[in-house]
Amino acid sequence: MKKHNFSAGPCILPQEVMKKASEAVVELDGIGLSLIEISHRSKEFVAIMEKARSLALELLGLENKGYHALFLQGGASTQFLMAAYNLLENRAGYINTGTWSLKAIKEARLLGEIVEVASSQDQNFNYIPKGYQVPSDLDYLHLTSNNTIFGTQIKEFPTTNVPLVCDMSSDIFSRQLDFSKFDLIYAGAQKNMGPAGTTLVVVKDEVLYRVSRKIPSMLSYKVHADKDSMFNTPPVFAVYVSMLTLQWLKDLGGIAAIEEINEKKANLIYSEIELNPVFSGFAAKEDRSIMNATFNITDETLKELFDEKCKEAGINGINGHRSVGGYRASMYNAMSLESVGVLVDIMSELEKKG
Ligand code: PLP
Repeated sequence: MKKHNFSAGPCILPQEVMKKASEAVVELDGIGLSLIEISHRSKEFVAIMEKARSLALELLGLENKGYHALFLQGGASTQFLMAAYNLLENRAGYINTGTWSLKAIKEARLLGEIVEVASSQDQNFNYIPKGYQVPSDLDYLHLTSNNTIFGTQIKEFPTTNVPLVCDMSSDIFSRQLDFSKFDLIYAGAQKNMGPAGTTLVVVKDEVLYRVSRKIPSMLSYKVHADKDSMFNTPPVFAVYVSMLTLQWLKDLGGIAAIEEINEKKANLIYSEIELNPVFSGFAAKEDRSIMNATFNITDETLKELFDEKCKEAGINGINGHRSVGGYRASMYNAMSLESVGVLVDIMSELEKKG
C-alpha cells in the first residue's frame, strides 16, 4: 500500500515524476544510456540543466528580469555561508524565526557583524515577529520564509531599501509572491522540487559583484553563474528530477494553481485543529504555515490510539521535531487533498472517542 507521506523532507514528489525519473535511470529518453552515466557536457544533459534553470525563473516570474537560476550542491546549509561570502561586506541583519535562521546567523558571523533585527525565540518560535525597523545601513536582511520545524510562515515581507535574502527551502513554488523583491533566494530541492542533492539559488545579477573579498570558486555565485551551473560536475539526477517537477507544476497551471490546492489542504487541517478539543495548534493563527502544520494532542490518553489509527491508515512522518514535540503534518505541493482528508478523518474520529 502506498503511504500518505507527511514527512517534512525529504518528502513526497508527484508519482508521475518518480516514475519518469526511475525510467531515466535505466535509460534516458531512448538514447541507449542511463541519465546517471551520460556526461554532464552531453547535449542531452546541457538541455536538461537549461530547462531546469529556465523553468525555475519562469515559474517565479523572474524571466528576463536580471536574475540567474543556479543548481548548486551542499544543501541550503551551504547557502547560509555562501550568502554571507557573496553579499556581506560589513553588517547584515537577520530575522531569527527558528533553528534554520540560527544556523544561518552562525555561519554569517564568521564573515562580518550580524544584527539580530527581530526574533521570536522568547516564545519558542511560535510566531513571526512584526513591526520591527530595518536599519538602513545593512548589506542585506536575511529571512526564512517558512519555518519547517515550528510551522510558521512569513505572510508579509518587510518593505525596505535593504536587499532581501530569503531561505525559501520549505515553501518555494508553493504560493504567489513578488519574487522580484528579493536579491537572493535559495532553497534545498528536497521539499517542493526534487531529491536532496541540489539547491536552487536565484540570484540578482547585481549581487554577483557586490563584495570586495576574494571568494573561493566553489562559493562564488559569479563563478557558477558564468559557467551556467556547470563549473564542476552537477548532481545530474537531482537536477533532472527537479526539472520534471517544475514541468509538472507548470503543466498544472503554475504557482497560482498549486497555491489554491495548498490553501485548501491547510484550511482542512487547521479547521479541524481549531474545532477539535483533542488537538491544539502550536503556531500563532495568523502566522500558520500552509506547508507544515504543527499541533499537539491535548488528551495524552488518546495518543496511543491516534498513533495506531494513523499507522493503520498508512500515514507516515507526522511526528513533530524534537524541539517542538507533538505532531507535524507537512503538506508540500505533491501532497493530495485526499491524503490530508485521511488524516483529518482520523483526528475527527478521535474527538468522538474523547
Ligand atoms: N532551511 C530550511 C528552512 C530547512 O527546512 C532546511 C532543512 O530542512 C534547511 C534550511 C537545511 O537544508 P539542507 O539540509 O539542504 O542543508
